[in-house]
Amino acid sequence: MIPFNRPFLADRELEYLTSAAASGHTSGDGPFTRRATALLTALTGARAALLTTSCTHALELTALLLDLRPGDEVIMPSFTFVSTANAYVLRGAVPVFVDCRPDTLNIDERAVEAAVTSRTRAVVVVHYGGVACDMDAIGKVARHHRIPVVEDNAHGLGATYRGRPLGSLGAMATQSFHATKNVSCGEGGALLINDERYAERAEILREKGTDRSRFFRGQVDKYRWMDLGSSYLPSDVLAAGLTAQLEAFDTIQRRRHAVWDTYQAAFAGLDVVRPTVPPGCEHPAHLYYLLVRDLAERQALLRHLADRGVQGTFHYQPLHGAPAGERYGRTGPGGCPVTEDVADRLVRLPVHAGLTDSDVGRVVDAVTAYRFAGC
Ligand SMILES: *Cc1c(COP(=O)(O)O)cnc(C)c1O
Repeated sequence: MIPFNRPFLADRELEYLTSAAASGHTSGDGPFTRRATALLTALTGARAALLTTSCTHALELTALLLDLRPGDEVIMPSFTFVSTANAYVLRGAVPVFVDCRPDTLNIDERAVEAAVTSRTRAVVVVHYGGVACDMDAIGKVARHHRIPVVEDNAHGLGATYRGRPLGSLGAMATQSFHATKNVSCGEGGALLINDERYAERAEILREKGTDRSRFFRGQVDKYRWMDLGSSYLPSDVLAAGLTAQLEAFDTIQRRRHAVWDTYQAAFAGLDVVRPTVPPGCEHPAHLYYLLVRDLAERQALLRHLADRGVQGTFHYQPLHGAPAGERYGRTGPGGCPVTEDVADRLVRLPVHAGLTDSDVGRVVDAVTAYRFAGC
């Protein structure tokens, strides 16, 4: 079976992991954390980066930094991972779910505008597959209403929008280094800060509400409890694995792009909808999907692929219709008809840096052998 995903070991992961474990500095914020943070800042163009234990935790940090109160509203797509919503629900805020665009499956910028109320405190965008949302349009709405934009950039490491790296466009952005992402250390993430106003407090909230980071830099002579917070620091052992992955970023990306480009070319003549990458967007080959006619065809295609040794899968189930989404959130004006439609019709194919040419050929053969009914 060709697995849908397998974490890729590039080169120096095991060497760095061993070195971190043997160094004596296995807690957070050690030498490998500094190296990984510098690589991440260079890659994303963010003003500052803080490694976290996950993207979920980085999102929770954004919710704390935004000082959300019960009843505050956060506009976000329904077509996303649960953590995008959970982070804000934990602060008592109400996710306002809006629809996605049928082409990129990104949050519909017109639906964002329509969902703004006097209680709106943030807009969270998710660059699906690392293809950028329409950040010009969203930025304009956000500036007009003085609402910060947070990028859940879990898919978008290394991608750009009009030449600017994703993760550098919002007031804050979050990254994931989960095993399913392009760059991974098993479980991990980062908070990127672009708006200076959040920088100092972010460091404190991440360190149990203390100014320990300043203490370690010699800026204060003792560290104290300054604010609320929790423990969001990954072990330096995980940061070591992450450092090796970030150093190998170009190698990883070259291979992923080769896989993605092969699929995109091979499926051009089929009666299915392939991903759209609008002009001005450079994507990071995070995922590859096809949109088929309906749920029945989706299930049939997944079975067909499995029979030929290829593990495909579906993706996000709409949050607005999920039990917790109904309990904690509400849906913006116009509902989410596109989300409901595409969620049932989407099939993802294996994309990872460990796929050989022969694996990719087998996936292509399996897909092209299927008789599509046409959308
Ligand atoms: C993977 C993912 C997350 C969660 O990442 P973790 O690091 O596993 O917490 C959040 N949002 C999106 C869009 C994701 O794809």
